[in-house]
Amino acid sequence: MQSSRVAITFAILILIAAGAALAIGHPGFAITIAVASAAGAFAVWMSLPPDGQNLVETSGETEATLPLPAVVTLTDDAAIILDGNRIAHANAAALALFGPHIEDEDYRLAIRHPAVTDYLATETTEPLDVIGIGGSDRRFLLHALTIAPGYRMLRLADRTQAHVTDQMRTDFVANASHELRTPLATILGFIETLQDANRPEEAAVRARFLGIMLGEARRMRQLVDDLLSLSRVEADRFSPLREPLAVGPIAEEVAATIATAEALPPKRLTVNAAPNLPPVAGDRAQISQLLHNLISNALKYGRADTPIRIDLAREANELRLDVIDQGDGIPPEHLPRLTERFYRVDPGRSRAGGGTGLGLAIVKHIVERHRGRLEIDSTVGVGTRFRIRLPALSEPLSS
Ligand code: ADP
Repeated sequence: MQSSRVAITFAILILIAAGAALAIGHPGFAITIAVASAAGAFAVWMSLPPDGQNLVETSGETEATLPLPAVVTLTDDAAIILDGNRIAHANAAALALFGPHIEDEDYRLAIRHPAVTDYLATETTEPLDVIGIGGSDRRFLLHALTIAPGYRMLRLADRTQAHVTDQMRTDFVANASHELRTPLATILGFIETLQDANRPEEAAVRARFLGIMLGEARRMRQLVDDLLSLSRVEADRFSPLREPLAVGPIAEEVAATIATAEALPPKRLTVNAAPNLPPVAGDRAQISQLLHNLISNALKYGRADTPIRIDLAREANELRLDVIDQGDGIPPEHLPRLTERFYRVDPGRSRAGGGTGLGLAIVKHIVERHRGRLEIDSTVGVGTRFRIRLPALSEPLSS
C-alpha cells in the first residue's frame, strides 16, 4: 500500500468524525475529535516509510518493506514492477521502450500486446518470446516473477541482435553448403557420364569433361580457401597488431605476382606510391590478401585492357590506399550490401570469373581488424574506387 493512500484514508476519517459530531449538535466535541484525529494522522504519517518504498501486507499485517524502485535499476534490460495490474515502477530502459508516461498506468494499456496480457494472466514462470514490442521486428524474452504477494516483476531482455546473429549464422551455413553443392553436383554428373564414355572415339569428349571437372574442383578449393581465410581473420579479431609494415612494397609484390599469373601487359596494373609513406601496424599476410582480393576484383570486373591503379598516399595521420578500375561500375543500391558474405551484383558474372562472393567480406574484416575504414565509390559505366584508410604509425620504420 502506498503512503499517499493511507493519508487520504485518514483525512476522510477526520471529516466523517467531525461531520457526525456536528450533526448531533456538539460543535465542541467535533473540534476535539478533529484535533485528536489530526494528531493521530500525523503520528501515522511520520511512521510511514519515505516515498519510493512500499509496504507489503500479508494477512492484513505489514510484513516487510522492499526498496522496489532500486530493484528495477539492477538490470539494463527493461524492468517493470506491477502492483496488481498497475505499473508501480519502471526503470530507464522500460520508460525508453514504452514511453515516459507508463508509471501508474495499467500494464495492459501501457504494453498493449495480447500475447503479454495472456501470458501474465497465467501463473507460468516459463519465459515468453515476444515479437513486435517497440518495432515490428524487435524480439524480447519476457520473464515474470512474483516478488511479494500482489507484486510481480517483469523483465524484458532484448534478443533482437542475438536473433539477427543466429539468422546470419544459419544463412551462412546454408549459403556455403549451396555454393559447395553446385560444383560438386556438376563433378558427380560428369563422373557418371565418363564411366560410360570409354570408347576410343570418345577421347575428345572425355578431355572436355575432365576440363570442366577441373574447373569446378578449383572453384570448390577457392571457396574452401576463402572460408578458411574468413574464419582466420575473424578468429584473429582481437589479437594485437604490433608489426610495423610498409604497405608500398607489399602492394608492389602483390601486383607483380598477379601481373605474372595473369600474363598482363605492361602498364595494365600500376602501383603509385607517394614518397615517405608512413608505416602501419599490421598483419603482413592479411594486408597482402586484402590487396590481392581488391586487385583481382578490379581485373574481374574491369573492362578488358583498361588500366588499374593502386595509389598510396599519406593523409593526415592515415595511410590511404586506393584501388581504381575503369570497369562497368556498381549501381548505388548494391553498395551498402557489397561486403556481406556471398552478396554479388551479378552472380553469373562472379561465378564465371571464379568468384566466391567472399572476397569483399574478407577485405572488410581485415580493415576492421586494422582499425581502418573502407569506402567504395562507383559510377556506372565509368569505374570503381575502393579506398582504405589505415591509422599510420607515428614512428618511421627503422629499416
Ligand atoms: P566475388 O567473388 O563475387 O568477386 P566479392 O566479395 O569480391 O565476391 O565481391 C562481391 C561483388 O561485388 C561481386 O560479385 C561484384 O558484383 C561486386 N564487385 C566487387 N568488386 C567490383 C569492382 N571492382 N567492380 C564492379 N563490381 C565489383
